[in-house]
Amino acid sequence: MSLLEIGGLESFYGASQALFGVELAVEQGEVVALMGRNGMGKTTTIRSILGLMRPRAGTIRLGDREVTGMQPHRIARLGIGLVPEGRRCFPNLTVQENLVAAARPGVWTLARVNDLFPRLAERRDQYANTLSGGEQQMLAVGRALMTNPKLLILDEATEGLAPVIRQDIWAAIRRLKAEGQSILVVDKTLAELMPVADRCFVLEKGRTVFSGAPAMLTAELQDRYLGV
Ligand code: ATP
Repeated sequence: MSLLEIGGLESFYGASQALFGVELAVEQGEVVALMGRNGMGKTTTIRSILGLMRPRAGTIRLGDREVTGMQPHRIARLGIGLVPEGRRCFPNLTVQENLVAAARPGVWTLARVNDLFPRLAERRDQYANTLSGGEQQMLAVGRALMTNPKLLILDEATEGLAPVIRQDIWAAIRRLKAEGQSILVVDKTLAELMPVADRCFVLEKGRTVFSGAPAMLTAELQDRYLGV
């Protein structure tokens, strides 16, 4: 059974249809990339998974539970951890307070998150709003992990970060994968995703137009679906 399985997903903003039948699956322990150019439906798909918008058609299953149309807090509690675009942490809590406030029982503990991101351990008593952009992103990943999600969703987690910081985030994703964490990554940087992702799903105009191993995304397909 897939950890996450989406079939025939259709979502609307008012009368305007954004998703026209998205198919997506994440197996246990996989890193899956959700890709596509701007405006193709990645964020809408994530919002639908999280219960932030109610799909008009299709199904979203988390393990053996159908979560389509469920309230966001219930879906979160069933095991979805989000690292949102723009890394939202509590600015007036310290690094450690941010982490502890998110904690739910499971394999991810403060010690393990500090081990994954030594920088967070060094900065543990600093207020989150004094961290650099990259450190805040690490904190956002750490917070999501502290909820011990079955599925961690990273929405454009490396966007706007300096290249060396991006490398830190990708290194962390590789380590998470090695530790068996299932991850859905939304990103546009194919070169960085390719070596990490087990599978890619590509959206175009609200539809899944490709799914397969990253190596199957030929230059021609990349050009067609991901080129600028
Ligand atoms: P990006 O990479 O720019 O975030 P995306 O792939 O995440 O793009 P979505 O944000 O999911 O794409 O947008 C899918 C479609 O839904 C687009 O046509 C977009 O214009 C439309 N859309 C997104 N948000 C809204 C909204 N709040 N109201 C109306 N239409 C919206």
